[in-house]
Amino acid sequence: MNDTPPKAPPLYPKSHLVAASGIAALLSLALLVFPSSDVEAKKTNLTLELDTPVDQFKQEQDAQDQRKATEDTSASPFAQIDNAADEPEDTAATKPPAKPEVAAATAAKSPLHKEIVVSKGDTLSTLFEKVGLPPAAVHEVIASDKQAKQFSQLKNGQVLQFELTPDGKLKQLHSKLSDLESISLSRTDKGYTFTRDVSKPNVRTAYVHGVITNSLSQSAQRAGLSHSMTMDMANIFGYDVDFAQDIRKGDEFDVIYEQKVANGKTVGTGNILSARFTNRGKTYTAVRYTNKQGNTNYYTADGNSMRKAFIRTPVEFARISSMFSMGRKHPILNKIRAHKGIDYAAPRGTPIKATGDGKVILAGRRGGYGNTVIIQHGETYRTLYGHMQGFAKGIQTGSSVKQGQVIGYIGTTGLSTGPHVHYEFQVNGVHVDPLGQKLPMADPIAKSEKQRFMQESQPLMARMDQEKATMLASSKR
Ligand SMILES: [Zn+2]
Repeated sequence: MNDTPPKAPPLYPKSHLVAASGIAALLSLALLVFPSSDVEAKKTNLTLELDTPVDQFKQEQDAQDQRKATEDTSASPFAQIDNAADEPEDTAATKPPAKPEVAAATAAKSPLHKEIVVSKGDTLSTLFEKVGLPPAAVHEVIASDKQAKQFSQLKNGQVLQFELTPDGKLKQLHSKLSDLESISLSRTDKGYTFTRDVSKPNVRTAYVHGVITNSLSQSAQRAGLSHSMTMDMANIFGYDVDFAQDIRKGDEFDVIYEQKVANGKTVGTGNILSARFTNRGKTYTAVRYTNKQGNTNYYTADGNSMRKAFIRTPVEFARISSMFSMGRKHPILNKIRAHKGIDYAAPRGTPIKATGDGKVILAGRRGGYGNTVIIQHGETYRTLYGHMQGFAKGIQTGSSVKQGQVIGYIGTTGLSTGPHVHYEFQVNGVHVDPLGQKLPMADPIAKSEKQRFMQESQPLMARMDQEKATMLASSKR
């Protein structure tokens, strides 16, 4: 989005001197507004549809890809890989989908076992009547246990299994509520006992591969990725790929994700463990990793943060000489003023780096800030670097900068007591603490965890390579 020049003039005051009392109000607003950071906002605003015109071969291509994608996901035995040792194999290719109810129905041949599918208008009474139980039996059942009432909350299509005694009484009533939950009532001397079985799904990993034809959401769906997983993937790669504008036909993705399985049936999905996204020929990787403190994040396969909108500090090996604060005694003015940035002290001439990609909207003198660079990053973020000794070559108003690029050098121009850079960070025009945890910062894997990270990352990457190769080979056959 570097192609849209910022229309509004910089919102910064002319100098530290002009830090008006209104700033305090703005700051308290910032504290209220900021927790729901822009990172979150980005998630909901994603448009997954392609808005670029697609050439006239689209239809034809779509049809081709559709055929390919169908083969890719259902015919390949590698579409779902079973990692759980205790989970029986159930690849769709080898077994017809066996409905547990159908299997149970074989026992229905006994006249004492009856199975009823709930249809519209059914109540527990009408069902009891259908299997030949007296109306009184319904009350007996419902009154037997507080939880037994759940049997009267019937859903269309629900299956009730009745076990009768030879003299026509209800011995057991059983029903499956979901793939993971079933309830039953069993006759005892004193009445009926209610039991609920909730099984924990096994988690295994699955792989999908997809090629984008006309939109990410359609291609993902065709590849077998749910909507929520597609959104997850878009969020993971959101710092590198603009899913609203940059998606092109032919972009590809590979995803290894957690799949929840119960009784041989997929009942849900978990987290994306690793993913790869190729956008316009450039491939990005992501690996989910939980560090020793228990924080989970996505990193590139070699351990850099995916959240690389900003590096945390503009100067390496600098000392923080003044923190962000709502009010501090100004060293020169000797009055309480809000300090809307962080001061990093370092020797004169130390390089100052742009903390993110963006466009320079000011490189020049700016009152008490002295020599100042202001960078606009997309529509949301703006950073300011003050008191510079001078600007780096090529840095002028209007130039584009890359993250990490040197923009100038530490000095003490303007209202300053010693060599330092005054660094400010704005989100939608509001100053925030650049060291705040909510900002999209780029902290790589800690050195002490690098080895453990690589032990997790490498096998995942290797597996995506292998699965993709196998899948492509089998679809050519
Ligand atoms: Zn400062």
